[in-house]
Amino acid sequence: MLLSHHYAQDLPSNFSSPVTPKPSPNPQIIALNEPLAYELGLDPHWLRSDEGIAFLSQGKRPDHLSPVAMAYAGHQFGQFVPSLGDGRALLVGELTSKTGEMFDLHLKGTGLTPFSRGGDGKCALGPALREYLVSEAMHALGIPTSRALAVITTGETIERETPLPGAIIARVARSHIRVGTFQYFAAKGDIKSVQTLADFTIQRLFPTIQLDDPKRYHALLTEVTQRHASLVTQWLSVGFIHGVMNTDNFTLSGETLDYGPCAFLDVYDPMKTFSFIDQHKRYAYGKQPQIALWNLSRLTECLLPLLNEDEDSAIQDAHSILHKFDSSFHHEWTNLFRHKLGFEKKDEKDLQLLEHFLETIHKGKADFTQIFRTVSSENAVLHNDYRNVRECVSSNQGYIDLCQTEIMHRLENETRSPAERLRAMKATNPRIIPRNHLIEQVISAATKGDFSPFHSLHAALKHPYADGNDGFDAPPHPNEIVEHTYCGT
Ligand code: AMP
Ligand code: MG
Repeated sequence: MLLSHHYAQDLPSNFSSPVTPKPSPNPQIIALNEPLAYELGLDPHWLRSDEGIAFLSQGKRPDHLSPVAMAYAGHQFGQFVPSLGDGRALLVGELTSKTGEMFDLHLKGTGLTPFSRGGDGKCALGPALREYLVSEAMHALGIPTSRALAVITTGETIERETPLPGAIIARVARSHIRVGTFQYFAAKGDIKSVQTLADFTIQRLFPTIQLDDPKRYHALLTEVTQRHASLVTQWLSVGFIHGVMNTDNFTLSGETLDYGPCAFLDVYDPMKTFSFIDQHKRYAYGKQPQIALWNLSRLTECLLPLLNEDEDSAIQDAHSILHKFDSSFHHEWTNLFRHKLGFEKKDEKDLQLLEHFLETIHKGKADFTQIFRTVSSENAVLHNDYRNVRECVSSNQGYIDLCQTEIMHRLENETRSPAERLRAMKATNPRIIPRNHLIEQVISAATKGDFSPFHSLHAALKHPYADGNDGFDAPPHPNEIVEHTYCGT
């Protein structure tokens, strides 16, 4: 393995704190992502050895360097908290993959750090398995995300509302630098550290930006803005609700990070939230683009002094960069949803058609994933038979007929064969997503010691676009519907 420690060693000591976690009483590997381990140059046999388990559960490095807790601040539900930091997680270092890309290895649930505040630094098994399943599902869907390397039970019982088994999740990401990392220094007026962090971020994540380019911070902001316009579009396209889009969970790399109270839509509703703590629906499904822009604005505020010495010019520059978010998002969204309905070419009336379709499925309380997959079925695409699509809505089925007429009319502009369209649509509209009720069932069984539902769901989620009849695509029965998710800390 190629393990470095750049964040800990190349940056000043106020960026992170070394922590040596206590060993767990009885660490046991519950899940090990062997394909990912290989990609990262890690030998799964070694990871299963005592040394490997100490590496994954305590961050014990072969070179004996200490893992570190990263410092960051953040806006939590709009309120600024100047010091958050890794309160229950540690950065072990960076692993260079077989293809030469660098990934942070981060462990969550390793115990107290200088940033733990009132918390215990621990993580329960349920949230660790949830993160493992959902982040790996996002990866299989083709969406930028942190990934799960392993879940380890610690042998401890941790105190939440009820006593729960403790666990550690080992995850990798291009980087754990967040908007909140910039805010930590900017809030102290420490512009020098903001600049050090910005240059480190450029070097690590945006190698095409030159470090001697006087416009490099403009380029950084432009890239991050573009990546998030694309990321949030991809979330919307699969019905994903992050649930806690605080600036401390908002990456510079443009990856999905922090699978706390996240959830996927069952029934389509743009104002849907699941997170129990999101009482004001700040992070509702359809509000995510607006929040992404809000978070990018917070990043911009931190970078202002670096954009231009003259404040007014800096603000003007920042405006023109952020202004591009809306057009990028609009462009990406229309493209992706156009593909979801099977259109390859562009048509100026597409936005209208897409909005009408979404309004129809909203009124008809259709399951988001199911209706898009049904529109992508052989019957609908090859035979123009929309009977099953009609079945997806609970009322006003006549509106589906109107949509069908519009779609058929629109298809006259297309040149692809129906068979090609069918293939493309199935590769865009997943059959399987990690549905909330399935995850709850997995967690409930695992908490009682039965991990087989976890393994079968995980196996199915690896192929979200493939046809199949495993039952994992079915929307929840009324008595299975999950209304709320919790942070699980
Ligand atoms: P999150 O909601 O996971 O994004 O966490 C927000 C902040 O709370 C971060 O600074 C976490 O490190 C901290 N935190 C969450 N849970 C715990 C815990 N059990 N112990 C200590 N800190 C925690
Ligand atoms: Mg977080």
